[in-house]
Amino acid sequence: MTEIGLFVVLFVALFVGWAMGRKSPAKKNKQTKKSIPTDYFRGLNHLLNDQHSEAIDAFVDSLEVNSDTFDIHLTLGNLFRKKGEIQKAINIHQNLLARPEISQREMRMVQLELASDFMSAGLLDRAGRLLLNMASTSRKSEFQPKILTLLVDLYEFEQSWDKAIQIGSELIKETPTKKEIKRLAHFHCEMAQELQKKEQWKPAFQHYKLALDVDASCVRASIGAADVLNSQRRYRDAIKELKHAADQDPEFISVIIPKLKECYQKVWGSSGYIKFLQEHNHKKPSTTLIMALVQHYMETDKDYAEMFLVEQLRLHPTIKGFKELISLQLADSQGYNQQHLVVLFELIDQLVQAKHKFQCRQCGFSGHQLHWQCPSCKNWGVVKPIHGLEGE
Ligand SMILES: [Zn+2]
Repeated sequence: MTEIGLFVVLFVALFVGWAMGRKSPAKKNKQTKKSIPTDYFRGLNHLLNDQHSEAIDAFVDSLEVNSDTFDIHLTLGNLFRKKGEIQKAINIHQNLLARPEISQREMRMVQLELASDFMSAGLLDRAGRLLLNMASTSRKSEFQPKILTLLVDLYEFEQSWDKAIQIGSELIKETPTKKEIKRLAHFHCEMAQELQKKEQWKPAFQHYKLALDVDASCVRASIGAADVLNSQRRYRDAIKELKHAADQDPEFISVIIPKLKECYQKVWGSSGYIKFLQEHNHKKPSTTLIMALVQHYMETDKDYAEMFLVEQLRLHPTIKGFKELISLQLADSQGYNQQHLVVLFELIDQLVQAKHKFQCRQCGFSGHQLHWQCPSCKNWGVVKPIHGLEGE
């Protein structure tokens, strides 16, 4: 909807609100004949002069607060917040709270909106105090899930992972939605990562395990637990975790393979590594798997490695695979052929380097790095390696 369209709708909504307030039976006895307030005409004048903000201010002034117009005031406040006019949103919501005639339920609704206003304005302390107060006085009320969700949003924004875990755990007891379960598991992973940096391996490992208790499909927790085990030189246990991660989500195979290779090298277990690569490439081929196998075959039989690569490229064509094929050809070529292949290789290499490796499945954001929380849409666990011709 265009801005002008939005204001026209608001204008009509406010007029309806005013008319409803006018027809309210409670008011009829006191005021049998009510005229349109002058603020309303002032607002109309502003609207006609394209002064939209002033128009809304005047309309808000013209509209008295009662049970019929409460929702309109609340909607207007939210509209201002969404437009980025936070102070106006706060004024409207605080004005509503000051009215003695609003019910307890309406008061809770306004407080929730006010908390969102404070968060949008960056007044996190005020939002936190208001929400914590509401949470302690509204237990088992219909508003509790919303209050807890906003508190989790707040602690997530502050990166206060211990508090986010505490409130997030309460929230999933109330409403165990898939989104909140996934988010809580990632909070445990964030906490674990902080502990890992301080080399506190045991509590870090525990948080990865807690993440898996909350969300058994959390591939990040399995990869993180493997990293901790690797740091503790428990390579065989790390291999188990990484294999589990590959079963949880095969799309992350390109992230798992380098870690798995490192662990297998430490325990001299290349046969187990090759078996893993072959099995997974059979189930779901990917460039990382194919390249790892080619690298292994090259050590013993170069011709077979090349034949295998050509065969795999037919079944699963990718730019990265094509680059590998040129690289193999380059090693055997001479003279002009070699020069031409070098130009081709450099061109393909630039193309591969320019392509993003990861993409958000929710909003389409893409980048060279893996973000467990999408920097664009802020959802957790939605950024994954890109597959297809230009990716894996
Ligand atoms: Zn996203």
